[in-house]
Amino acid sequence: MKCYLCGKGLTDKNSSSEHIIPNAFGGKLTARILCKDCNSDLGSSFDSCLTKSLEWFSCKVNHSRSRGSVQPVKVNIDGMGVFALPRGDYDGIKVEKIQDNHYRIHALGKNAQAKAKSKAKEIILKSGKKYNWTEGKVNEKLEKINSNIENNIKQIEHPLVNFTIQFGGKDVLLSVMKTAINFAIMKNVPLNYLNDAIKTLKENNDDFKSFVNSFYPENIFPENSIYHTLLLKGDPQVGILYCLLSFYGVFNAIVLFSSCYNGEHILHSYC
Ligand SMILES: [Zn+2]
Repeated sequence: MKCYLCGKGLTDKNSSSEHIIPNAFGGKLTARILCKDCNSDLGSSFDSCLTKSLEWFSCKVNHSRSRGSVQPVKVNIDGMGVFALPRGDYDGIKVEKIQDNHYRIHALGKNAQAKAKSKAKEIILKSGKKYNWTEGKVNEKLEKINSNIENNIKQIEHPLVNFTIQFGGKDVLLSVMKTAINFAIMKNVPLNYLNDAIKTLKENNDDFKSFVNSFYPENIFPENSIYHTLLLKGDPQVGILYCLLSFYGVFNAIVLFSSCYNGEHILHSYC
């Protein structure tokens, strides 16, 4: 086996297993198809853009990964910047000054009350210093924190979570192309049908537009099931070789490797 980018012969020493679907999405399928140098050169730049595009879904699904773990995502709830945590909880705190020495504390998540209390304590200690309160006055205020907060809780019943997802763009689509190429190489598709796509990937050039496009059909997957799929098909009768990809069932793309395919019938899928 040779590295499909530089053509170097692959050995146990100079190569490692490449994730066909990025590790950041919990991809488990691996193959020895790139040398170590090409693997690290190629991985960092555009895969991270695709990862960023889909981070909300990774966070909500909270799947396992071969390396590292799913990261919290910045979102906005009722005008407040917070973090969505991988297990479904939110984390964030904001202090709003109503008037002198009157504050409203917005706290989110499992330990919201405890977080609000400790924030209030911090504010009192700071105010005590600022206004030279006596120790007695500070202690009196500290003693009231718990009841003050517990008696004045206003809970938001259905908070509106706002976040932005940006699909598409050159780097994202190049990353999609890479996954499709990885899968095709792994399935031993003859290189002559892949060389143009590999060249585009290697040169990072604008020809990617003629190979890859994304689409967002509604409800193509059954409800309550989330998975990644790859489908590689070569059809000599129609003369096309392509790979369909779907990440989380949300981001879908097609990579057209060849529109003059005259090799064997190919059909490989992975889910
Ligand atoms: Zn290489």
